[in-house]
Amino acid sequence: MFGRKTAKKLDAAATALHNGGKKIAGQAGGRAGDAIANAAIAPIRSRINEDCTRCARGKCKAH
Ligand SMILES: [Zn+2]
Repeated sequence: MFGRKTAKKLDAAATALHNGGKKIAGQAGGRAGDAIANAAIAPIRSRINEDCTRCARGKCKAH
């Protein structure tokens, strides 16, 4: 099953989507990246019983 390593990768991927979108199209791009992350990553991420790995490192901007 999915574990902490996967959770970390998914959290990083979501951040990359947000930042990538922001780089291309500013705030709107960031929101578009978040939308993709929510659609593609969140359903898998929510199945992993791990706390947000970004919060754990104090680098989370979403919570
Ligand atoms: Zn978090």
